[in-house]
Amino acid sequence: MSNAVATTDTHCPYCALQCGMGLRPTGGAVPVSVVERPGFPVNQGALCGKGSNAAAVLAPGARLTTPLVRRDGALRPARWEEALDLVADRLAATAAAYGRDAVGVFGGGGLTNEKAYLLGKFARVALRTSAIDYNGRFCMSSAAAAGTRAFGLDRGLPFPVADIPRTGCVILVGSNPAETMPPFVRYLRELRENGGTLVVVDPRRTRTAELADLHLAPRPGTDLALALGLLHLVVADGRTDEAFIAERTTGWAQTRAAAMAHWPEHVEAVTGVPLPQLREAARLFCDADGAMVLTARGPEQQAKGTDTVSAWINLCLATGNAGRPNAGYGCLTGQGNGQGGREHGQKADQLPGYRKLDDPAARAHVAAVWGVDPDSLPGPGRSAYELLDSLGGEVRALLLTGSNPVVSAPHAGHVTERLRSLDFLVVSDVVLSETAELADVVLPVAQWAEETGTMTNLEGRVILRRKAVDAPAGVRTDLEVLHALAARLGHGEGFPTDPEKAFDELRRASAGGAADYAGISYERIAAEDGVFWPCPSPEHPGTPRLFLERFAHPDGRARFVPVQHRPAAEEPDAQYPVRLTTGRVLAQYQSGAQTRRVDALNAAAPGPYVELHPLLADRLGVRDGDQVAVVSRRGRTVTPARLTTAIRPDTVFMPFHWAGEGSANIHTNPALDPVSRMPEFKACAVRLEPVAVA
Ligand code: SF4
Repeated sequence: MSNAVATTDTHCPYCALQCGMGLRPTGGAVPVSVVERPGFPVNQGALCGKGSNAAAVLAPGARLTTPLVRRDGALRPARWEEALDLVADRLAATAAAYGRDAVGVFGGGGLTNEKAYLLGKFARVALRTSAIDYNGRFCMSSAAAAGTRAFGLDRGLPFPVADIPRTGCVILVGSNPAETMPPFVRYLRELRENGGTLVVVDPRRTRTAELADLHLAPRPGTDLALALGLLHLVVADGRTDEAFIAERTTGWAQTRAAAMAHWPEHVEAVTGVPLPQLREAARLFCDADGAMVLTARGPEQQAKGTDTVSAWINLCLATGNAGRPNAGYGCLTGQGNGQGGREHGQKADQLPGYRKLDDPAARAHVAAVWGVDPDSLPGPGRSAYELLDSLGGEVRALLLTGSNPVVSAPHAGHVTERLRSLDFLVVSDVVLSETAELADVVLPVAQWAEETGTMTNLEGRVILRRKAVDAPAGVRTDLEVLHALAARLGHGEGFPTDPEKAFDELRRASAGGAADYAGISYERIAAEDGVFWPCPSPEHPGTPRLFLERFAHPDGRARFVPVQHRPAAEEPDAQYPVRLTTGRVLAQYQSGAQTRRVDALNAAAPGPYVELHPLLADRLGVRDGDQVAVVSRRGRTVTPARLTTAIRPDTVFMPFHWAGEGSANIHTNPALDPVSRMPEFKACAVRLEPVAVA
């Protein structure tokens, strides 16, 4: 507890910064108010509008408070026992009729570690299905794959955010924290106050780009070429760190050759970034005493996202900016538990502790913790989009929690059709999301302030969300739902409803794995403002900074990965001549399932729009505010035009928080990265058509 007796110290329900906040009871319909928690080091009391208004969704009138079962075509209130019996019966019947893999599970990057862990266990032990993945596949998986192959370990940031102002130069690629996580911006401001420089790479001159010393605005889908061009310039100018390369890396010769094949003049033509700006970026990066590259969804959500991130990591390795203090590569994770959610078993190929499902030793370790035969564990399953694409075919029944793919999945119209084609869909959620509206059964579950659990923020810091208020009558926790369903499926033991018991089991399951939580306890988290993994024993101090002595590959060296630029999966052509890119706005979060129910946020960001340059608008005969049809190979939407010179004339931008006519993801391309299986949200081809007013 903090200074005020009635205040509960906890964390924001939304993004990966996991800002500390306090909650005070109000006695009103919104049962708590959000107050500052200045002592938490990451945000030091600062919150954005999403966090400061988060309590609004706790009001009973803003959310679901009773299970719903579809009868005569409509969702109608039902008793919990009736709903749970129906779910268990239908999941069991589907497995009996079509095989275990016909039952799918879809999780989310916002689930606590305890929920993600038990959801994976539920799939592998209670359902024995391989068909599980989660929406984090859409969010960070390319950076995770590239980090693993370069460093032998994926942790979004291998250092605390407090190190950022201590470096000399940051290249921020495809990230707009001024809107997505505003309290983070203080670290960028401090960097510049300390004499460091900020380079922002984004097709739009965002609020973050406005803060930069240099803004590079490449065409969407060309970040890989940009990184190769910078590495070419670094090599040509003799700015590589040969001692670091020799002592701490392997694979430089092939990577050097690949970069030297990408001439800066060619990179200028591909990216649209003028050569003098490329040279200036390379100079700022190399002149700094220590530098960082931080990527986010821009370079990662591409059909070549893993190679794109590898190209940026190569730039860091070639200049000695890795494995030493105040320098290195990091990924700014997006979802609240984007980091922990990818470590503990809800991913298609993974067991807790970042273990691999196809590793016999990993299977044996986790099976022993779970008290099952290793051979009973299913093998790896399909990635998120491939799982959604298989609905109604191989997968006939789906249990979905913590996700709203009708809004957030690529090719959203197709995904909606697949969801409709299921024999049975059950959705656990706080609100009646667009996906829950399609369900056969909707289970109303508790949310952030109503239950305790751990999250792992973008730094790899495991933090504790504390319960501050009881959930309304009629609402159960996700852990209670999994326990009840597992019991009905013949597994009365092994699915604790107490989050701390679940966490203690997670610690044992993760022990010895890459993401080792064995030494982390609720008590330590509370006493230390979070504990950084790996933390293999109670005596271990945790690991705020990775790789200072050695990288995590067996030989201790980082791996250069030679990569080549290639075009986006769908380039503009005569029929669809404009590039569409997507992203977030300040006052909405992800699919908007929660934030679109908050009046203050809707007032600030009331609806969808398409952002375009006045030169493009002139060619189309479109004025600011006109309705415009956006047409792609996957659909047609109509939305107001917003004119701005802050975007490239060959590119349009749509925020992705809305469904229906304003949906950006109707258009996004499900072309998958071959390594991470992440879809290409950030670049597809569209045409714009003025809509005549009747
Ligand atoms: S920056 Fe992220 S964690 Fe912090 S208040 Fe805003 S949404 Fe919440």
